Amino acid sequence: MTFIAGNATSFPSVPAPAYDRSRVTTGIVHFGLGNFHRAHQAMFIDGLMTAGQAYDWGICGVGVLPGDIRMRDVLRAQDFLYTLVLKHGDGSLEPRVIGSIHDYLFAPDDPEAVIAKLAAPTTRIVSLTVTEGGYNVERTTGEFDVTNPAVLRDAATPRAPLTVFGLIVEGLARRRSAGVPPFTVMSCDNLPGNGHVAKRAIVTYATLVDADLARWIAKEVAFPNSMVDRITPVTTDEDRAMVKREFGINDGWPVVAEPFVQWAVEDRFTLGRPAYENVGVQVVDDVEPYELMKLRLLNASHQGMAYFGTLLGHTYAHEAAGNPLIAAYLRRYMDDEVRPTLQPVPGIDLDDYIASLFERFTNPHVADTLARLCVDSSDRIPKFVLPTIRANLASGGPVALGAALVASWARYVEGTSESGRQITVVDELRDELVPLALQQHDAPTTFIEYGPVFDDLAAEERFRDAYTAALEGLHRNGSSAVLASLLGR
Ligand code: NAD
Repeated sequence: MTFIAGNATSFPSVPAPAYDRSRVTTGIVHFGLGNFHRAHQAMFIDGLMTAGQAYDWGICGVGVLPGDIRMRDVLRAQDFLYTLVLKHGDGSLEPRVIGSIHDYLFAPDDPEAVIAKLAAPTTRIVSLTVTEGGYNVERTTGEFDVTNPAVLRDAATPRAPLTVFGLIVEGLARRRSAGVPPFTVMSCDNLPGNGHVAKRAIVTYATLVDADLARWIAKEVAFPNSMVDRITPVTTDEDRAMVKREFGINDGWPVVAEPFVQWAVEDRFTLGRPAYENVGVQVVDDVEPYELMKLRLLNASHQGMAYFGTLLGHTYAHEAAGNPLIAAYLRRYMDDEVRPTLQPVPGIDLDDYIASLFERFTNPHVADTLARLCVDSSDRIPKFVLPTIRANLASGGPVALGAALVASWARYVEGTSESGRQITVVDELRDELVPLALQQHDAPTTFIEYGPVFDDLAAEERFRDAYTAALEGLHRNGSSAVLASLLGR
């Protein structure tokens, strides 16, 4: 059985849109339509449509990078339908065909079509999952990088932009001239204060084009912060084969994910929003407590298993999380170093949350790779791990376990596992970081003296001492010995 354009009800064993997709119109334009969006917001909107709501909140995906051509072609070939398969811990599979995406534009094909979509009064939300690195933030200053050639190019030809920022700002400019109120810009990326980051990027870019427009955007556009959660690995050929074998669907790009899902979003929207709360989204006044909980417990623990796990020869997250030493280390890290830095989180019991993390991490069927968790560490460590260390340095709290996590990353960047297997470091700062890591046998603080990632953290004695002790232990005795010693075993 294949996806048949316009007919989504032909998969007997799989729940599929029974609603009339020809009635769906674009209310949301989404940039960076990758796996996560398809397992998250698109699923929530599909849930609303299934309940007979939100037909005017259909999603039009937009890609701006060459890598998005494949998504354009796959989605167009199957009427924008795709299969989301949740993989439960007991091995059972929960499939569902998602129908809320009803259009996809690849911006380089026709930037004007994207701008027209953004300018249309019916478009009321522009959401983003363009990765942590996609906001073009200059690492040392935390400001939008106005020297980026793609940004400069757009600023010089603002009517024909190619970046996310250029397209959004031109869309807003056209709305302003036409007297149409602005849409909401909703970042769904894993960044602390993701709404603030998106606002800074878009307003700063706009100042390069038109200072008046920039002021209007700063005043009139809503940029709600959000916390998003669902482990969504990269789709493999085996996943494609599984969807065909188990459900009879030829899907060019299905998505697999864990069953757990969470989304907390601030209730600040310029032109309304779908009734997200009807499908389990937490619509809140302030997302910060949720966000800190998630980034510092879940995302930081992923980092904690990624490098120790890779050094020890594990391939998958569940293997690393199932390693008793890594599991005990993560538990201690969360309890002793992270929890004291968190505010109370309305409606959430942190003990239950931490327990649920271990269930999620050890689900073997999700098959999340450590390699995915190690991509662009230099973007992740400063957002997920260093804020906890800084908070503990300020409060007099412990930092040894966080420092060891940073040391495991530094050791990983040397490029070989403990059994001598080669590690491919995939990081924007690879060319800067690898040579620093290779010097650290002789000069153990070189890596953490790299300002764009660590700022002046190396000057903090308590952190530096704990870090160098862990790094020396990793060089001499390896990860297991370091973890055992941190645990007092
Ligand atoms: P993906 O690789 O499937 O998709 C990423 C998308 O972002 C692609 O369309 C890509 O072209 C686009 N992109 C990357 N850099 C860009 C740039 N500079 N400008 C414009 N577009 C850019 O990845 P994914 O799994 O969908 O994850 C995307 C983001 O979602 C993550 O980085 C994270 O912030 C958030 N997220 C992911 C997960 C997960 O488990 N995968 C969980 C929570 C949050």
